[in-house]
Amino acid sequence: MSNYALKVNTNWLKRKRDSLIKRMGKAKPFVAGSVVTVNKKCGNKNCKCAKSDYRHKTFYLMYKEKGITKGVYIPVDMVEEVRTWSEEWKAVKELVKEITAIQKAIIKQHVTERRQKKGRK
Ligand SMILES: [Zn+2]
Repeated sequence: MSNYALKVNTNWLKRKRDSLIKRMGKAKPFVAGSVVTVNKKCGNKNCKCAKSDYRHKTFYLMYKEKGITKGVYIPVDMVEEVRTWSEEWKAVKELVKEITAIQKAIIKQHVTERRQKKGRK
């Protein structure tokens, strides 16, 4: 989807780009990261997790900062909401990728068109 042939004209590319930007404008709240589940013991010696294989599910939003993976604890009552943010981020990221591909195609197309106007040497 992100390979825009140089044969399409600049106006088409710009219209396509502008419609993608409109879609970005309608983005719902998002967050760059993914929700992961970690099974943990809570540390309470009287808890069932200390006496059996039972583990508490805890949730983290994992993300990368300067190449280092980091996590933010997510309270249980926010997990579903944060999941929707994370899902929205994937959609936004795809839009950014696609818009970038179009912009690169516009740059290349400009060079091609200018060369055609000048006439080949
Ligand atoms: Zn426990």
